Amino acid sequence: MTPRPATEPVTGLVAELVGGLTDIVGAEHVLVDADVRATYEVDWTRRYRGSCAAVVRPGSTAEMAAVLRRCTELDITAVPQGGNTGLVGGGVPRSGAGAPAVVVSTLRLTSLGPVDVGAAQVTLGAGVTLAAWRDHARAAGLDAPIDFAARDSATIGGAIATNAGGSRVVRFGTMRQQVMGLEAVLADGSVIGSLSGLPKETVGIHLPSLLSGSEGTLAIVTAARLRLVPWYRRTITAMIAVADLDDAVTLLGRLRGTVGSLDAVELVLPEALELVAAHVGSTPPVSATGAGAFVLVDCAAHDDPSDELTAVLGDAAEVLDAAVTTEGPAREHLLIFRDRITEAINAAGVPFKLDVAVPVGRLAELLEVAHRSIDRHGGRLVPFGHLAEGNVHLNVLDPGDPTAIADEVLGAVAAMGGTISAEHGVGIAKTPWLHLVRTPAELATMSAVKHALDPTGTLNPGVLQPAT
Ligand SMILES: Cc1cc2nc3c(=O)[nH]c(=O)nc-3n(C[C@H](O)[C@H](O)[C@H](O)COP(=O)(O)OP(=O)(O)OC[C@H]3O[C@@H](n4cnc5c(N)ncnc54)[C@H](O)[C@@H]3O)c2cc1C
Repeated sequence: MTPRPATEPVTGLVAELVGGLTDIVGAEHVLVDADVRATYEVDWTRRYRGSCAAVVRPGSTAEMAAVLRRCTELDITAVPQGGNTGLVGGGVPRSGAGAPAVVVSTLRLTSLGPVDVGAAQVTLGAGVTLAAWRDHARAAGLDAPIDFAARDSATIGGAIATNAGGSRVVRFGTMRQQVMGLEAVLADGSVIGSLSGLPKETVGIHLPSLLSGSEGTLAIVTAARLRLVPWYRRTITAMIAVADLDDAVTLLGRLRGTVGSLDAVELVLPEALELVAAHVGSTPPVSATGAGAFVLVDCAAHDDPSDELTAVLGDAAEVLDAAVTTEGPAREHLLIFRDRITEAINAAGVPFKLDVAVPVGRLAELLEVAHRSIDRHGGRLVPFGHLAEGNVHLNVLDPGDPTAIADEVLGAVAAMGGTISAEHGVGIAKTPWLHLVRTPAELATMSAVKHALDPTGTLNPGVLQPAT
């Protein structure tokens, strides 16, 4: 297909597109009004925005296939979007992109299949939220293994596309490990994948693995067969103050070695704790005096896990102060200081986000590098993250020179054997730094896979790899 020049008037083409999409999904699911499109055109942080010709909301896999076929025929680019909670600009139209785009929303793909208790699996539509996955599983006595603060909006399709992580990775792994099967649509409208959920199968390329983390650049996921885990009804949460990051890592080692019910080990640095406390107008339940880091621990089990956690905390010399809660308002109060940090940062400004991971023993070094870089180039650092995976979200408010900060910090991360994106994805935010963690041969492989599955470049151009 011959690429259309960016300068070509689009009115006739857009009219043809809207007409074609309306024939497929009905007029009420093709959104063209500027006010209605607006919320689909800007990301959660307000850092990334662009405009689209229309938002289309297919209600089935067949409709999705027809929509993508139509986009490809008309040489219109398609931006898949789920809950639009992504933090790297991958789910909204690109600003300045020459060709018109449509946002393809999965929010009508909300089917909830029956829970297969024997297999501990369920089939869900791509637009089902993480909270709905959890509630559906719990209604059958099981649980969802993935959880994070955007649970009420983030979707299954988005979580697969970004290989999302969250707080329970220490126990169950990332989203990739939960996908037992999936169904997806290629740019030419072909439907691929399987929802049978066989735990054992060796017949070549594993499509769930290929598409997990592909950020909507290879295919649009329409449904997934997902793993379920036991629902541990007895939970205990602790917030623990320690002197510094090295002590936090020492504590992590103790917890890993002795606490079988470990469900989350999160990290909150003082700047983040202060910001969220001010945002929610509440005082953290631990004393901050002398504390250089706070560790939030969840334990969950069928029987009360309190004893095994409190025994470890009682023996740990690095614990300066600790608040321990079981169910109820006290636990909810404590969880605010983890779950509402991202919201508090957004309320303070438009953040520049670097979601990185390093080997846990090098976290202190990472934070030193980040502080030094921000001292040099301007900004206010608000760091927090997932301690067990060495994953820190380096949020920078009012960054003076974000590119210089990213050059220095991401360069240092790569030199430490870390990664420039731990769980948010590359989106359009990190493409300039991919070369730090992928060799030219690996980048060429990614590009070849993209070309093989999406030869017309219809799906999410500019995401994961620079647009060509
Ligand atoms: C408050 C808050 C807390 C967060 N905490 C975490 C956290 O702890 N861990 C974590 O990993 N992330 C976290 N995130 C980031 C975000 O929630 C995740 O990346 C999530 O997986 C995105 O899901 P979504 O449905 O909103 O996807 P979107 O934002 O809509 O899209 C994200 C990407 O996936 C693609 N995509 C969406 N749906 C599909 C589909 N069906 N098929 C193919 N591609 C698709 C999009 O094109 C885009 O590239 C957080 C975000 C917020 C706002």
